[in-house]
Amino acid sequence: MTWETVIGLEVHVQLATRSKLFCGCPTAFGAAPNSQVCPVCLGLPGALPVPNEAAIRLATRAALALDCSVHETSVFARKNYFYPDLPKGYQISQFDRPLATGGRVRCESPERGPVTIGITRLHVEEDAGKSIHDRIPGRTAVDLNRAGVPLAESVSEPDLRSPAEARAYLTALKQVLIYTGVSECDMEKGSLRVDANISLRRPGAPRLGTKTEVKNLNSFSNVERALELERARQREVLDGGGAIEQVTLLFNAATGQVRPMRSKEESHDYRYFPDPDLPPLVLSGDWIAGERTGLPELPEAKRIRLAATYSLSEYDARVLAAERPVADYFEAVVAAGATGKPAANWVTGDVLSWYGDHGAFPVAPATLAELIAMVADGTVSLQAGRKVLAEIRGAAEPPRAAAARLGLIQVRDDAALETWIDDVLANAGPEVARYRAGEGKLLGFFVGQVMKKSRGKADPKAIGDLLIRKLGSPPG
Ligand SMILES: [Zn+2]
Repeated sequence: MTWETVIGLEVHVQLATRSKLFCGCPTAFGAAPNSQVCPVCLGLPGALPVPNEAAIRLATRAALALDCSVHETSVFARKNYFYPDLPKGYQISQFDRPLATGGRVRCESPERGPVTIGITRLHVEEDAGKSIHDRIPGRTAVDLNRAGVPLAESVSEPDLRSPAEARAYLTALKQVLIYTGVSECDMEKGSLRVDANISLRRPGAPRLGTKTEVKNLNSFSNVERALELERARQREVLDGGGAIEQVTLLFNAATGQVRPMRSKEESHDYRYFPDPDLPPLVLSGDWIAGERTGLPELPEAKRIRLAATYSLSEYDARVLAAERPVADYFEAVVAAGATGKPAANWVTGDVLSWYGDHGAFPVAPATLAELIAMVADGTVSLQAGRKVLAEIRGAAEPPRAAAARLGLIQVRDDAALETWIDDVLANAGPEVARYRAGEGKLLGFFVGQVMKKSRGKADPKAIGDLLIRKLGSPPG
């Protein structure tokens, strides 16, 4: 029996501010436990919260970049629950009047091609502290440095149809948030967290099936893995005639299992109410419009423009546009004189793998453009060009000097080539005879032999031309 998978994602991202959402404590990662706290984020009596304008600005920018309607009035609400790492006994969030609603993310589904996934809402909230179970044997420690760190939570519509599609959505969402400077989206530092809802139904069924929620997903590949597991589990239950129970599940990356949360870990009734310490958040229409105008070119628009402007394949444009610095670097290489396609080949190849490892580009854009020109005019072969790049990356040596030093400048001097060719032909009597008798493909063999003799320095095209002059055009 077939089932349709229905997935919705809740994504929390840390807004890239220097200070917390309602106090001036720093948000820097990696500080000593409980060193970035104050009466406000410790929830001491009498302390009053003041919203951080930078956080509101970033959340607004995220909402606009995701095509949401940003509301001029939204309301901070208290989400009440008891947990040791929540000093106030409540988290300040937004509930029935969020900052923004009704957005969308476009992404490339591995199964369905380009899809548009709705965003139900985006709201601002503060993070809780952290319980640490592995620091003191037999005890749980609490670090409140994260308490009060600003987050934006975006909730998608249940528009996703597979675990792989969920991953594609997250990738597209992350690109937008990084492009706009809203968040670093670094899952290892906890600045992007995902909760996933999944249910199954008969294809075309009007109502959604009972969903379960998987929490504790700390990488995109774990999101996909956990959803695969949970989908398989639900399928088995439903195929066996059973019913799905609405539960919250935890994913354990180490064991690769999903297990239900203990009921103590789960809390259904948060008793939300407007925070009496905070007036409604009011943003003027002009301020929102200003933020909209200030948005940079977003990944999708950039991809389309790069493909059209530089006649690139969809694939090249997608790889280049995935990260803003990479796209900017590519455009700088073109501006320095390279043509689009070879520049894209270099940037998406050797340059990108270096960038991925080092977080920096191997050479200045103008240097790469110079190297590309050297390959284009036959000064060095493509293969030699790659050697030159490997030699000069991270250093200041000009490509031409490096190529000369490494003996990679192609020899196109006819006299030199002719000597090598005559040498090769003199020692290849049988092959020459076979070539003349009709085996045209032996031309490649001769070129290879001459290249060998030149130790890679000869220009293969020039050799081919000279050989044809000597032996006649390849027969057949
Ligand atoms: Zn504080």
